[in-house]
This record gives sequence, structure tokens and C-alpha cells, in this order.
Amino acid sequence: MTDMRAPETAETGHFASRVLAWFNEHGRHDLPWQHPATPYRVWISEVMLQQTQVTTVIPYFERFLERFPDVATLAAADLDEVLALWAGLGYYARARNLHRCARVLVAEHGGEFPDQLECVAALPGIGRSTAGAILSLSRNAPHPILDGNVKRVLARYFAIPGWPGQSAVAKQLWQLSEAVTPAEQTRDFNQAMMDLGATVCTRKPQCHRCPLQAGCQAYTNGNPEDYPGRKPKRSKPKRQTLMLLLENGNGVLLTRRPAQGIWAGLWSLPECSREQDPAEWAREALGLVITDLHRGIPLRHEFTHYSLEIYPVHARVEAANEMREGEWVWYNAETAANLGLPAPVQRLLREKETRP
Ligand code: SF4
Repeated sequence: MTDMRAPETAETGHFASRVLAWFNEHGRHDLPWQHPATPYRVWISEVMLQQTQVTTVIPYFERFLERFPDVATLAAADLDEVLALWAGLGYYARARNLHRCARVLVAEHGGEFPDQLECVAALPGIGRSTAGAILSLSRNAPHPILDGNVKRVLARYFAIPGWPGQSAVAKQLWQLSEAVTPAEQTRDFNQAMMDLGATVCTRKPQCHRCPLQAGCQAYTNGNPEDYPGRKPKRSKPKRQTLMLLLENGNGVLLTRRPAQGIWAGLWSLPECSREQDPAEWAREALGLVITDLHRGIPLRHEFTHYSLEIYPVHARVEAANEMREGEWVWYNAETAANLGLPAPVQRLLREKETRP
């Protein structure tokens, strides 16, 4: 993970000088973890900031530091107490990792953060970007970072397509971050990039306030909000089912769903797979002889994890002499009010009633 810096070119040098000049005037210089910016304080703030806004983090950071002012106190604490001080920040794995990491630092590094990027990045809950932030923001070590804010700025400035969660895109962004990060003043530069992403190059960027406007490819192309690319949506799996609307003089047959799983405990239509012959299935599974089969109009129902394609089949019940045991009910004007029905079943029953 040794930084493979591209040689500084006029362009990348210019990039850094514009960002640094902007930082002097507009950057954030008074965040609580900047005074003093010890590796411990920077580490706690970076982990807290991973999923949370600065304004929310500040009071948590101050409480946490008051109780655990250094690595040794944190390592000696009970995990429950660490979790209690974290309560409300969410993503509790972060707090567990902080605690574990403090113990590793005490056991293996004398309670101090090592100087080598690789060693810091190998600690529990710390990746390459957090390691770079800890060492650059506290010791001005020349390591680039690539948190969400920096990814956004770089993806827009260089018009890098694709979702940064994909390794090829992340690799490209890392190379750019290495190329633009100066070997000197890395502390200010990294803080500046985070500030720029958090306050100017936001989801809806304010390009008129941005020191990088000249040269920003996404700005020039008029499409900054297309970067970084979004996570590709995985198409949901599809499932299919045949729902039987079996009618006799008493109404339409409904069965109660099992207590677990989708539509648990609701009343639904009997179902079989599309490969089965509905008449044969009704005879075997329900003990019913059905006739006059005809297909209805298919409909789709979306669950969180899959789409259900429903193929309705209408039929008349000829004989129910040997109807199998189970929780059955005939849906009609009298029973309807007391039956909880899934939405697509309600729709099928409504459509059946309005059919000529
Ligand atoms: S010009 Fe706009 S899109 Fe480009 S880096 Fe600045 S704020 Fe982001």
C-alpha cells in the first residue's frame, strides 16, 4: 500500500494550490478534533464521521473524549460503556472496532499509532483512507485519502464514470487522489478536500463557489450530478404463481396463510405452480372437482426482495365431497368484512366481482 505517487504535473500542482488557497479562507479550522489533532482524536473523529454529519458528531466526540481521553483509557474500558456513549450514532460495529483497536494498540504498539500506513490500515475497523487521514491530519504524513467527499470531488473534476464501489473505479480514483495530493501540506490539503466535498461539491454542487471550477470536466459538461455513478440496481428475482379463484354457491374459496413468511396469517387464494394442471392439483391438494377453467389477466406484486407474477385461474367447484382438512373459508358478502386479505388477492376478488 506504499503510495505510488504520479510525478507532479503542472495540472496536479495547480489543483493542489487552488484547493489550499481556498482552504485558507473557507476551510474548517476549528473542529474539536483539530485542537490538538493527535492521532487518537483524529481517529475517533474519523470513525464517528464515517456515516454521520459533523454537527451530529461534535457533542458525541466531546462526551467520548471526556470519558476516554486516550488509547489506554479506551482499551481498559468495558465494551458496554463504550457502546453506551455511542448510543444514537448507529452502526455499532464501529464502536466495537474502536474498542478492539484500542486494545490492539496497547498490546502491540505500546498504546501509540504506528507511523507506517500499512500497519495503521491493518488495525480493526481502519481501512486505507482512514489510515491516511489519521497519519496526514495528525502528523502531516504525505498520504492521500479517499473518503466519500473526496470521491465526489475527484469523480466530478475528472469525469470518472462508474460507481466507486466497483474496484476498477475505486482504483482509478485512488490513482487520481495520489496524483493530486501534494507531498507537503498534506494535512491541509486532505482537510481541504473533505471540506470542499462537504460544503461546496455537495450532492447539489455550488460550482460558483468552487476553486476547481476552471478545469472541472463535469462542470464544463454541465452534468456534475451524474458523478459519482450510482450503485447499479440489481434486478429483483421474479417468482411466478398460479392463484385459483374457485367458486361455488357460497363464494370464492380462501385459505389461511401459514403463521410465518409472506402474508403470514392472512387469507389468500389457493396457489399452485404454473407447471401444474390446476384441475389435477385441486383434486389432489384440496379434494375438489373443478370445471369451466379459464385464465384471468396476470398481475405483478412487488415484495422487497422479489417480484411475484400472479396468474389467476377462474373455475367452478363441481363437488367438494372429499375436501381436505385445513383452514378454509368461502369469501362472500357476509364473510368479507372479517377477513384480512393481501392486496393482490383483494384486487383479484374485486376484479372478479366487477366482471360482466
Ligand atoms: S466545479 Fe462544481 S462539480 Fe466541479 S468540483 Fe467544483 S463544485 Fe464539484
